[in-house]
Amino acid sequence: MPPETTDACRDFALNVVERLAAAGFTAFWAGGCVRDQLLGRQPKDFDVATNATPGEVRSLFGRNRTLPIGQSFGVITVLGRRDISPVEVATFREDVSYSDGRRPDAIQFSHARQDAFRRDFTINGLFFDPLNDKVVDFVEGQRDLTNKVLRAIGDAEKRFDEDKLRMLRAIRFAADFQFEIEPRTMAAIRCHATKIKQVSVERISGELAKMLVHPRRQTALRLLRDSQLYSEVFIELPELGEPDWHRLEALIQNAKVDHFGVAIALIAWAHQGQEAGPIIKDLTKRLKLSNDEQNRADHAIKYGPVLAGACEPQWPSVQPILISDYAESTLDFAEATTFAMGKSHDGIKFCRTRFSWPTEQLDPEPLVTGEHLRKLGLQPGPHYRIWLDRVRTEQLLGHLVTEDAAVQWLVEELGDSDSTAAE
Ligand code: ATP
Ligand code: MG
Repeated sequence: MPPETTDACRDFALNVVERLAAAGFTAFWAGGCVRDQLLGRQPKDFDVATNATPGEVRSLFGRNRTLPIGQSFGVITVLGRRDISPVEVATFREDVSYSDGRRPDAIQFSHARQDAFRRDFTINGLFFDPLNDKVVDFVEGQRDLTNKVLRAIGDAEKRFDEDKLRMLRAIRFAADFQFEIEPRTMAAIRCHATKIKQVSVERISGELAKMLVHPRRQTALRLLRDSQLYSEVFIELPELGEPDWHRLEALIQNAKVDHFGVAIALIAWAHQGQEAGPIIKDLTKRLKLSNDEQNRADHAIKYGPVLAGACEPQWPSVQPILISDYAESTLDFAEATTFAMGKSHDGIKFCRTRFSWPTEQLDPEPLVTGEHLRKLGLQPGPHYRIWLDRVRTEQLLGHLVTEDAAVQWLVEELGDSDSTAAE
């Protein structure tokens, strides 16, 4: 999640509006930041909407203080102090037509009212005039905010037909704010759900990640299912019967989910249990998760059961999992699935204790290296790894504590296996 804004960001966004107003333009804060403020939340960023054209915005704030990244959509980025997030200043516009199911073919500059109507949901269609402390509401967004309703602006069918991504945004906002999706809006989503594939997989994934790595992820899952989007975005997963679905909801809610990869692993596990390995690979690849998140999901499914069943004698095979980059999330996964199966938590407790050990204890320096093996007269080769692993196992089990003891052990073991030494 992006960091929350600070008072300095708010002051800067106020300053942008003041300067536009002083130059004779109309300017408001717009969209998400207005909604968040009215909900008593700290906005993630501030967007400004104005009747100044992009050219006018650039000449007012200066070319050095502005970036024309979104100029084709009428958006100019105005830079503030280095430590403050920039403000996007968008010229009031209406979207002319949509043909790719996602973005408008063209835009045309317009007025505040039309700009409100091109936005997706009534709660996102509000303006705020910070100079007069006044909400400017053309779409009855304040009523819906009060009643906790998520409603498409205008004809819901048409709005989702224009841009299919809005369907996932609807689920995300409704879950995040715990709002009801207004019935016609929900019916329109169901009607268009199969067309979510028109949206790029990166955008789909982006929305799923936000809603699933979120405290309200259970609601998001339920809404995905109610809206029929679930089976469209998780095409690899077989249908779940009602009891299994309830288990999935409980699983995802009880789990600690800090990463998208863990969320996906839990979902796949709820469908396929330990057999989910191949599906996880297909799913995370198709959804274009980062390599890191793909590995995380993979590790969780593969090594979660090892952690769940961990105990002292198995430490040498558990330890490498606990020192991997994915240790924490594999543990979270193991804990959630153990709980879901009603199994003993002993393995998890054992791992948590070990995981809190200081590094030198959790992952001690190896007692011997290849150099030791060479000095013992062993020809380098693949068997080096085998011998080093064997010493490591003895070390981790606490059977070998010093370098001398380890070398001595090697000498004895090598003596017992002449064939390997002679290789
Ligand atoms: P978040 O808190 O997730 O940033 P947001 O409402 O600010 O929520 P943004 O994606 O930052 O969402 O968009 C800013 C505003 O632009 C929205 O509040 C909405 O008015 C408008 N908007 C964004 N995406 C769409 C869309 N797909 N269709 C219509 N309007 C949109
Ligand atoms: Mg935003």
